[in-house]
Amino acid sequence: MFSPSVYSEIITTLPPSVRLVAVTKTKAIADIEAAYRAGIRDFAESRIQEALSKIEALGSYTDINWHFIGRLQSNKARRVVENFAYIHSIDNLPIAARLNRIAEELGKHPQGLLQVKLLPDENKSGWTREELSIDLPQLELLENLKICGLMTILPLGLSPGDRQQTFGELKDLAAEISQTSNLSLTELSMGMSGDYPEAVAAGATMIRLGTILFGDRG
Ligand SMILES: *Cc1c(COP(=O)(O)O)cnc(C)c1O
Repeated sequence: MFSPSVYSEIITTLPPSVRLVAVTKTKAIADIEAAYRAGIRDFAESRIQEALSKIEALGSYTDINWHFIGRLQSNKARRVVENFAYIHSIDNLPIAARLNRIAEELGKHPQGLLQVKLLPDENKSGWTREELSIDLPQLELLENLKICGLMTILPLGLSPGDRQQTFGELKDLAAEISQTSNLSLTELSMGMSGDYPEAVAAGATMIRLGTILFGDRG
């Protein structure tokens, strides 16, 4: 269940430059409505079928920004471009190219973030720094997908100091790419319920919060 008091406590600590994105996977429509009433306009989902039924049910809330944060499958790419303003979980060149092609067909310009893996983590996808530097020239050519930032998920078990350090490295990487390519990576999607304070301290512009706002997903 959505907790308005936790939400207001969190937003009073956030600089105005940070957008709180509420992660509502597995949560009910009523939870999303409660969060909307509290003022949240950015919602994230990770499974396309579940997301589509929620987006349809909430169709009258026309000022919601939907964010896709799940694993992107090529056969679901069209649905994602059709329904989401932000795509945080772009993790390889073929899917980026496909999203771009579909965006062109549909005349849409979704905001895309490149998922980067700064530390080894076999459970997570994403470009390593080296892989990203190889693919950047091709990513720079995509005109319909608006690549606007980087996203990361940290491995479990880091100390707060190491978390902040690693989030800082994502910020530095975005700055470096922005200086040396035609991409302007101003968005940093980093920080979840367990590590958002360190992400905010390191310069996050979007934090993705589920559990802390809505309780355990069970
Ligand atoms: C589920 C999920 C979140 C939210 O995680 P919490 O720990 O519940 O805040 C954030 N980002 C991604 C990519 C997720 O899949």
